[in-house]
Amino acid sequence: MEKVVIVGTGCAGLTAAIYAARASLSPLVLEGRQPGGQLTTTTAVENFPGFPEGVDGPDLIMKMHEQAEKFGARFQYGTLEEFKPGDDHHRIKVDGQWIETGTLIIASGAAARWLGLENEKQLVGRGLTSCATCDGAFYRDVPVCVIGGGDSACEEAGFLTRFASQVYLVHRRDTLRASKIMADRALANPKITPLWNRKPVAYLVDDTGHMRGIELEDTITGAREELSVKCVFVAIGHTPNTEPFRGKLDMDGNGYLIQHGGTRTNVPGVFAAGDVADHVYRQAITAAGQGCAAAIEAERYLAARE
Ligand code: NAP
Repeated sequence: MEKVVIVGTGCAGLTAAIYAARASLSPLVLEGRQPGGQLTTTTAVENFPGFPEGVDGPDLIMKMHEQAEKFGARFQYGTLEEFKPGDDHHRIKVDGQWIETGTLIIASGAAARWLGLENEKQLVGRGLTSCATCDGAFYRDVPVCVIGGGDSACEEAGFLTRFASQVYLVHRRDTLRASKIMADRALANPKITPLWNRKPVAYLVDDTGHMRGIELEDTITGAREELSVKCVFVAIGHTPNTEPFRGKLDMDGNGYLIQHGGTRTNVPGVFAAGDVADHVYRQAITAAGQGCAAAIEAERYLAARE
């Protein structure tokens, strides 16, 4: 029987692991499908307190991992497939094996959203991606486009200017959703061309099955045009990774876990931290803060039961 199982190794999960480990709870931490979470797909993080020069996302995650391990957190590669809440303890199925635990901290984060256009699945890795950090270097001296108008889209577009000959920033409105500093930086970059009021309607595929461009529709006039690009970077937000908890834990209409005071879910002993329960702030630092809170709440819950 485990005392604490933490699902996810992004900022929330790793911070929960550090706190639970320091409280001598020897937490079991499940790495999940994307070990390290979303920070592993980013480069410079400029707004994490304590790093005036910025910090590399994967480096920050590696250090948190090391810190959690140092205090006794145990890491296991595996994905939670099923969850059975109980009165005394909870059961989770991880890669076919059932694990029993007194408390569960869900920090499984959120996954990139896609446009839902035809051929999408086949094109991933053939000119379609949601991660500029991972794939940007493959597209040197060719035109590419980024879909979206948020911080992610601006950040991805800026990063891609290191490689691509030209970066089109395709947004469905005429104002960016991104924070002012990120929006100003993107729009001031001579290699970034914004295409306002444009909605992607189809991927254009060449004879070899690779991306050759994207068809866009003007959201005001309805006119359609083809944009020739070698890669489309989709940066239109995220969906929370909550599927195994559907029908068992309270969720909002978009699948985000609902916290009932602090990080508590509706099931006693089950806590939710980070992007899996937060569609408002979604920052590394807020996720870390919630991970800390969840670990403290789990510790108090266990102590009260003893
Ligand atoms: P976001 O803020 O939700 O923005 C998503 C963008 O995609 C919006 O501009 C949205 O358009 C557009 N969009 C959504 N669905 C679309 C569709 N089907 N077709 C076309 N466009 C679509 O997501 P995000 O940029 O990933 O940011 C998420 C959070 O992470 C935010 O809190 C952000 O501040 C944070 N973040 C921070 C940093 C940083 O500080 N370094 C970097 C990245 C992300 P509308 O605007 O019209 O809705």
